[in-house]
Amino acid sequence: MSVFSHLHQLFNVDTCDMYIHTLRWQDRPLHCPRCHSHDVDPWGSYHYRPGLKRYWCNGCRRTFNDLTNTLLSQSRRSLAHWILATFLLCLTCSSRRIAREVGVHVRTSYRWCGWLRNTAISYEIDRQLEGTVEADELYHIAGNKGQAKQGGPKSLGRRPRCRRKRCEPGRGHYDKDRPAITAWVNRQESVVLQAVRDFTVSTVQKAADLAVQAGNRLYTDSASSYRALKGYVHEFVNHTQKEYARGDVHENRAECLFSLLKPYLRVFRGLSKCNLPGYVGFFQFLRNVRHQNAFEQAELILRAALDPTIASKARRGEFVKCLDHFDLLQIAIN
Ligand SMILES: [Zn+2]
Repeated sequence: MSVFSHLHQLFNVDTCDMYIHTLRWQDRPLHCPRCHSHDVDPWGSYHYRPGLKRYWCNGCRRTFNDLTNTLLSQSRRSLAHWILATFLLCLTCSSRRIAREVGVHVRTSYRWCGWLRNTAISYEIDRQLEGTVEADELYHIAGNKGQAKQGGPKSLGRRPRCRRKRCEPGRGHYDKDRPAITAWVNRQESVVLQAVRDFTVSTVQKAADLAVQAGNRLYTDSASSYRALKGYVHEFVNHTQKEYARGDVHENRAECLFSLLKPYLRVFRGLSKCNLPGYVGFFQFLRNVRHQNAFEQAELILRAALDPTIASKARRGEFVKCLDHFDLLQIAIN
């Protein structure tokens, strides 16, 4: 029998409060999150939460604290819960695992994971690759998992697939519960990943325009959608003729990325296709900050979560919608 069943109980409350205070105000001067006035004075603290600093704004004559309007505001859980959950998320734990380790309800953990993932995606919105870029695509099974918005099970319009969906031959499609994921990797190994509806010429052209700066060199396989691309210096290897590399021309980095993406997605034991862009976007964030350890990654997410504008967008899931500029997929998400 363990003395403490959860790790967060070993966290020092004052250290957590100081950490969050530093993280929130280190890049920006102390100001009111409501009226942005800098004319603020210290205003004691809360009797039930002594470490959380409170301030008085002389502009709008209201009080605020270190957490006002952030992702962590009005949470009944301690900061240690949040810090630990973010850390575990960066270690690619599932929301159920995080619920068990942190000691919160599964639904709380699911909501937090969604918000924190969206916050991380805020770093990836404007990423565009330059230099030599390799591209490849993957079809991943993702159906209508989870609950309906109004509660209760989702109506599927078909009989349940008892022992998972089998992989069908040929190209996948969003409507066939097998959307495509495109990967763009440059030789410095910055990555852009997109969950897309299908793999037609027009979709791939849009995806390329978003992910890669025009005029750059693009190496792909011989799929016809890539061959129709305009605006890039394009070369391809022909896998059907067992050609995998021709001098400098290959797409092994993109294929390697999928060998990392697949075990990451497998952790979640089946995905809902409306959540797929969020998961894929978070994986893109993790890959692009892979030189940092998991706690440094968690700190990046927490720093963004303490920004009121990012936090409000993350709660509404707006970054995920920005990530998928494909009109058709967006309608499906809404
Ligand atoms: Zn104010």
